[in-house]
Amino acid sequence: MPNDSTRLGPRSAELRRRAAARTPGGVHSNVRLTGAQEFIERAKGAWLYSVDGRDYVDYLLGQGPNFLGHAPDHVVDAVSDACRRGVIFGGQHELEVQASELVCRAVGWADMIRFGVSGTEVVQGALRLARAATGRTKVIRFEGHYHGWLDNVLTAARDGHWGVATKGQVARHLDDFIVLPWNDAEQVADALDRHGEQVAAVIMEPVMINAGVIEPLPGYLEAVRRLCDRHGVVLIFDEVISGFRLGLGGGAERYGVPPDLATYGKAIAGGFPVAALVGRAELMSRFGTGEVNHSGTFNGSVMATAAVAATVTSLLEDPPYERVAKHGRTLMVGLRDLGIEHGLPLRVEGLPAAFHVSFGDAEVRDYRTLQRLDLARYERLSRVLVEHGLWVTGRGVWYVSACHGEEELDAALTRFEKALRDGAGR
Ligand code: PMP
Repeated sequence: MPNDSTRLGPRSAELRRRAAARTPGGVHSNVRLTGAQEFIERAKGAWLYSVDGRDYVDYLLGQGPNFLGHAPDHVVDAVSDACRRGVIFGGQHELEVQASELVCRAVGWADMIRFGVSGTEVVQGALRLARAATGRTKVIRFEGHYHGWLDNVLTAARDGHWGVATKGQVARHLDDFIVLPWNDAEQVADALDRHGEQVAAVIMEPVMINAGVIEPLPGYLEAVRRLCDRHGVVLIFDEVISGFRLGLGGGAERYGVPPDLATYGKAIAGGFPVAALVGRAELMSRFGTGEVNHSGTFNGSVMATAAVAATVTSLLEDPPYERVAKHGRTLMVGLRDLGIEHGLPLRVEGLPAAFHVSFGDAEVRDYRTLQRLDLARYERLSRVLVEHGLWVTGRGVWYVSACHGEEELDAALTRFEKALRDGAGR
């Protein structure tokens, strides 16, 4: 059941009652079952405003898409202008070409692109392409990494074991995956020595943002790249969160390791629902010959491509990455200092554009070591933070946008401190 602990305003409580009557759990994505339950009336920049007149500094950013802040005028205008001339054609249009050229230019290493609607589905496209190109079926993936909600990639943790199927999933669809702890190149080398002939792809988030915002250890991505080359395996970076957030070229650029295929979503389109699969021509062109199928009624829609073109153009012309990093860094230090001041073992780690807040001080390098932290304690704190006007979830990941400035920094630290003074986090 949804998290009840946020004291809802009267309008939110009423809307929630109506929502629960018609929508399972009152939400349209299970990810939101455990999040804040206040109903939002509008959002602009780094702020959310509830139907009960409350405001929130937003560090969730719609789970990542609002990298330019909420409703960036130039993106919303570009989408509405374009859509007045038609929404979906069932034929090709110039915006598709522009958006494709812009994304490939921004990403740097990629030759070709196919647009989709969700991160989940473009991941499937990447896996299919890798299997088609190699004639192999197995895929190496890693504990703690998320690649969508479909049967062959969704997993849950149970009794300390990561990688079990959830109810209703066909568990054997997970059988083609070899699941390894992340950040350990030896494990990949061993698995490829044993099963290399059967392995089509290695897929990973180049930074494990979904579990703890953990960076790759120095040399890890390079080692996996070399192993993939040696065994003829396709390297897929799932950049659905990291893409356009860590820099124009995402994790691949940040760590200087190009994959063969990469998936994008979230920050690519200023908040609009768009995803993309990009990659090297010799792989991607297999879609173009019809040899490998990739379809979707809404792929490359006017809305999607107008949003991507406007978003990526502004990121290329006025990259906000230094600004975002500065805000993130200052906020991380401010939160850490508040933890120390209040005698709490608060842990704030990660990248400035996305970082992780928890309790404890373990050395963390993968999903297993992440479990040494007191994640439940932060989850409890996060509910109080929402009551104090900070829009965050219990998973501990905070996202920073290009709209977070001095005002938001002051508000965030003041509200965080007030929550601690009220006894939260103990
Ligand atoms: N890959 C990663 C790394 C993600 O974080 C997500 C979503 N959080 C997905 C894939 C799936 O994207 P979507 O929710 O758009 O289907």
